[in-house]
Amino acid sequence: MSRDLIAELKTKNMKTITRRKFVKDSLQAAAVVAVAAPFATAGESVPALQFSQIALPYPYAALEPNIDALTMEIHYTKHHAAYVKNVNDAIAAEKITFENEKDLFSNASKLSAKARNNAGGAWNHNFFWQVMKASGGGAPTGKIADAINGSFGSFEKFKEEFTKAAMTRFGSGWAWLVQHDGKLKIGSTPNQDNPMMDSAELKGTPLLGLDVWEHAYYLKYQNKRNEYVANWWNTLNWEEAAKRLS
Ligand code: MN
Repeated sequence: MSRDLIAELKTKNMKTITRRKFVKDSLQAAAVVAVAAPFATAGESVPALQFSQIALPYPYAALEPNIDALTMEIHYTKHHAAYVKNVNDAIAAEKITFENEKDLFSNASKLSAKARNNAGGAWNHNFFWQVMKASGGGAPTGKIADAINGSFGSFEKFKEEFTKAAMTRFGSGWAWLVQHDGKLKIGSTPNQDNPMMDSAELKGTPLLGLDVWEHAYYLKYQNKRNEYVANWWNTLNWEEAAKRLS
């Protein structure tokens, strides 16, 4: 290697280090601003509610062939990540001071569209990832099976009704199984709304949720939402649903 080339490489390396240090310092400064500025009013510091993405409980390919790995990867790293970033931006910009997610959702009607849509998107996807698993599905057992049979007559009737909710949601939204006043109910919400929002027609504690946005299935299923919904039953994590039943 020529002496000139070595000198040039050394200079390049220095520049990289300097740039890295600059980025690191800037990020640290930004982090301080993000925490301190929007919530410090009249010398009072209010802890900021922050949404975050759960670690995906399984690899991207775990739900194959029902949900393909590429859809999972884009859905988690692009769509879900964007909802989380955007809701946290909205919380900061709009000085939203709810203490927890539940309080925020029960005041959803007072939020901006940006805060409400992205808060829903952040929470709904964290929930969605958890109620699925590799080699899931089958019929539920135990107390959730009893609750389903009690409310809908049979597992088959429940599946029929849930599938109808998923198929008749026009455009983007979610189908849900919820518990409300001791009863199980099926319904759907538009966009990224969820049944914990005061503004939602369907109300209750979510036990199961199915994302019927095209981004959830289009790569593999194109326009065939019915096939996506039919195969989604094979991914269900009934233990997670049962945990949420009271
Ligand atoms: Mn989605």
